[in-house]
Amino acid sequence: ASFASLGIIEPLCKACEQVKYIKPTDIQVEAIPWALQGRDIIGLAQTGSGKTAAFALPILQALWEAPQGLFACVLAPTRELAFQISETFNALGSTIGVRCAVIVGGMDMMAQSIALSKKPHIIIATPGRLQDHLENTKGFGLRTLKYLVMDEADKLLDMDFGPMIDKILKVIPKERRTYLFSATMTTKVAKLQRASLNNPVKVEV
Ligand code: AMP
Repeated sequence: ASFASLGIIEPLCKACEQVKYIKPTDIQVEAIPWALQGRDIIGLAQTGSGKTAAFALPILQALWEAPQGLFACVLAPTRELAFQISETFNALGSTIGVRCAVIVGGMDMMAQSIALSKKPHIIIATPGRLQDHLENTKGFGLRTLKYLVMDEADKLLDMDFGPMIDKILKVIPKERRTYLFSATMTTKVAKLQRASLNNPVKVEV
């Protein structure tokens, strides 16, 4: 398979080429066509599988087709992962002018508020700090969100981000696409899946 044969548009195929993604990985082959059809996805995949591009490419494609303000939010359990995800979005979105903001704990709130006021398309966040901004940053909200991603959901729940994720789910549109990725399917992940995904396709590698 090629990215084009999965349905990925030319500018994004070009970006894949630029970052030396020659062939899609298994999780990308499994997930991308469903995502482009508008389905919610639960992906069971480890780090190293190429899961980040599996959700980033369909989101970037949807953004390119209908550009608008704050478009997608990715929840990640750690700062390191959030920055890695942001690098992938920036690299794959370079040809379509994507703007990302990383909103994680342990960094300056004010600088993040300024970044949020610049209207990023994609926010990559740890749940606690995102919740902090939802409560304290004037004018910031997630009302226009079209996509929610929960990456490494098993880890998010192990780190007790569950209550914050529940709060975030309450303030984002019900009409959205949701992607949940996890290395393992635990009872807690299954519960989160039921609370947040709509008739998802399960992809596993
Ligand atoms: P991830 O599982 O998303 O953390 O990705 C693992 C690594 O694989 C990252 O360094 C990606 O840049 C790389 N990668 C993702 N997709 C591809 C691809 N189709 N071809 C080559 N490398 C890839």
